[in-house]
Amino acid sequence: MSEAATLTRKADFPGLLTADGQPWHYLDTAASAQKPQAVIDAMSRALGKDYATVHRGVYSRSAQMTLGYESARRRVAEFMGARSENEIVFVRGATEAINLVASSWGMANIGEGDRIVLSTLEHHSNIVPWQMVAERTGAQIDVCPLTEDHRIDLGALEALLTPRTRLVSLAHVSNVLGSVLDAREAADLAHSVGAKILLDGCQAAPRMALDMAALDCDFYAFSGHKTYGPTGIGVLWAREDILDAMPPWQGGGAMIDRVTFEKTTYAPPPQRFEAGTPMITEAIALHAAIDYVDALGPDRLFAHESALAKQLRDELRSMNSVTLFGPEVSAGIVSFALQGVHPHDLGTILDEENVAIRAGHHCAQPLMHHLGVPATARASFGLYSDESDIAALLRGIERTQRIFG
Ligand code: PMP
Repeated sequence: MSEAATLTRKADFPGLLTADGQPWHYLDTAASAQKPQAVIDAMSRALGKDYATVHRGVYSRSAQMTLGYESARRRVAEFMGARSENEIVFVRGATEAINLVASSWGMANIGEGDRIVLSTLEHHSNIVPWQMVAERTGAQIDVCPLTEDHRIDLGALEALLTPRTRLVSLAHVSNVLGSVLDAREAADLAHSVGAKILLDGCQAAPRMALDMAALDCDFYAFSGHKTYGPTGIGVLWAREDILDAMPPWQGGGAMIDRVTFEKTTYAPPPQRFEAGTPMITEAIALHAAIDYVDALGPDRLFAHESALAKQLRDELRSMNSVTLFGPEVSAGIVSFALQGVHPHDLGTILDEENVAIRAGHHCAQPLMHHLGVPATARASFGLYSDESDIAALLRGIERTQRIFG
């Protein structure tokens, strides 16, 4: 049996059927993953018969929920190869994780004349928070260019770094092109000038094994909903000594040590960064999602999806009038354009064929500018994708080409 056949688990995912029970060829996993039944069940139990709030109640149900919430934190720590669960901050998503780092660490450590390095292929959520820091502090943003085959150019990164570089913030895997960063090499380069490195792991966390010690980065962010878990929860990992030194960003309940009108002292991390009632049910469902992904083996997920990406690239290359973007070897994400057809029109016709792709700028407008297109069509795979999804996509593309002559 092929690797693809052994991994595909469509039956575990109720979302992969249309309303009338037909197969739905979901090729938009990079935007958000479908959920396995185990995650839906965990969420439903947590919202139903197990439900109570955490950290406050003196009654046993609340104590149970607190154990569940904190056990999710330990599970995430283990999944990421963190040294301690105290390095895991639950946030609403990757966007919030990056904004937290920008507002707290960034505003405390970046000043006028300092430099922040981003790359051409970043998602807006790894651009805009840093522009806001730069505007407030007088720091400058340097943009690391891409190689010809659309990977972050580490040679160019090295040349951009200066003693004033405080932070390098890069996508571990591009959400548009599937390009995989040599994260360890980027971390070593950043550290060589005393800068910190943040990795936006939104597209890597659901696709490859994570090991914070081996990556040697300083901050790592990902979203639960792209990792087969629910929306409304994400993870910020940061080294404990860095978190310890970071000022709080949102104030409120649960993040304090003691409050008087004269002075408030704060809880240690991670609680210092989790003001208010947390995402209890979401954390418990994320735990179930991580169990599901881990049981399959993140390395096998990567092999499965990148084999599908390679197959799709080969098929598209053999068609007329298709432009392919991104490197030949990539994670399971393929961006392309059909000559004379707007990606939105392609997406609409594919929808009639029960094929879902993403068409647009993918929250990466600077990258679109670099590629010289307003938008791309993007097919992205998940652990449940298989060759039938590629075949349906290709049939839909051929039909679109016939319609547009
Ligand atoms: N970074 C990357 C690379 C992404 O793909 C996304 C989501 N498209 C984000 C950040 C933002 O994630 P979220 O919207 O879940 O906060």
